[in-house]
Amino acid sequence: MPDARPGISPLMAGLQCRCPRCGKGPLFEHVLGMRERCSHCGLDYKFVDTGDGPAVFAIFILGFLCLGGTLIAEFKFGVPWWAHVLLLGVLTPILAVFLLRFLKATLIALQYKNKAEEGRLAKD
Ligand SMILES: [Zn+2]
Repeated sequence: MPDARPGISPLMAGLQCRCPRCGKGPLFEHVLGMRERCSHCGLDYKFVDTGDGPAVFAIFILGFLCLGGTLIAEFKFGVPWWAHVLLLGVLTPILAVFLLRFLKATLIALQYKNKAEEGRLAKD
């Protein structure tokens, strides 16, 4: 686990997708790929282990929003079927990428701030 410098707010780190310690170095390369280390402060990102957490949260949030939006569009406004396909086919993947980046960066910052790691019987 990295050293215990205080770091920045997990919410700000998540919104900006920045390093949880310095808040300056980018966390991702390309869209959702993790960098090896922070390009600004050198924090090694090997401690990162968010697992399926961001995906599960994104599925629940997006499922609620997209299904609710679809039902409202269908029953309140009578939107034709092809508009549903266009809206959901374009909007859902875009929202998913932004939401996954935010959730993954936030969970990484929370893991860093709370020093969360796998349980062990003794420290190495
Ligand atoms: Zn950093």
